[in-house]
Amino acid sequence: MNTPGTPSRPSRRAFLGAAAATGATGAVLLAPGIQLVEVAQAAAPNAASAGGPGATALPGANPRVRWGLLIDTTKCAPGCTDCVSACRTEHGLPEPKRRTDVQWIRKIEIKAIDTGRQGSLPVMCQHCAKPPCVDVCPTGASFKRADGVVLVDRHLCIGCRYCMMACPYKARSFVHEPVTDQKPDAPRGMGCVESCTLCVHRIDAGHMAGGGSTACAEACTKAGHGAILFGDLNDPHSEISRRVKEIRSTVLRADLRVEPGVHYLGL
Ligand code: SF4
Ligand code: SF4
Repeated sequence: MNTPGTPSRPSRRAFLGAAAATGATGAVLLAPGIQLVEVAQAAAPNAASAGGPGATALPGANPRVRWGLLIDTTKCAPGCTDCVSACRTEHGLPEPKRRTDVQWIRKIEIKAIDTGRQGSLPVMCQHCAKPPCVDVCPTGASFKRADGVVLVDRHLCIGCRYCMMACPYKARSFVHEPVTDQKPDAPRGMGCVESCTLCVHRIDAGHMAGGGSTACAEACTKAGHGAILFGDLNDPHSEISRRVKEIRSTVLRADLRVEPGVHYLGL
């Protein structure tokens, strides 16, 4: 099964076979970069045609849209992990037992050095417009859709974990254990890297067009906090874009200029 929104591509096994054949001419299969990057770039469909550098135009991914989140840290309740639980339930993720276990969204407790103000905020993949994880991926498995959603194609991921090292937000996890109880909408695989999909299966099912939201945002609203808002940052009439314009928001590590699609209020 393909990762949601991905085009039909050669299987991971076929891809490695082709790369190995290239290696027969003298190249080393996983020598940093050159051979695999060239193969991956040749395989990436419409790589530069829509959605900015590295974006991939796919059926179901609207290039006029930039999906994102606005997280109001003043409403995020310390100790509450309903968003984390909802994400696990939605995607069939196991409860983490070790620090290195899979986690698509985590709660961070913060304390301002100058004022002493304490708070908490959820951190997930920031769906960067200029994603370093995509830049370093040697196979093209890490990719950005035309609507800004950054995903991993499990069929192309070779588990090298370069993307995990490149991500400044520690947003990605490696699947160490055999996968059980998989959800049809969230294909997973041992030996692959994964991260928040912005609930892309809901996007592609048309759920968001009808006013739907992500599992984490829904859970936050249900808990009475309403700290997470999902929407189209490109639509001037959407609540998220109006609030981002009207209220001073920030992105995490703005100095890195990766242009996250997740914005925070109250930091
Ligand atoms: Fe990639 Fe990390 Fe940015 Fe997500 S937060 S798009 S995994 S660099
Ligand atoms: Fe999980 Fe969806 Fe929230 Fe991402 S947007 S953290 S996948 S529930």
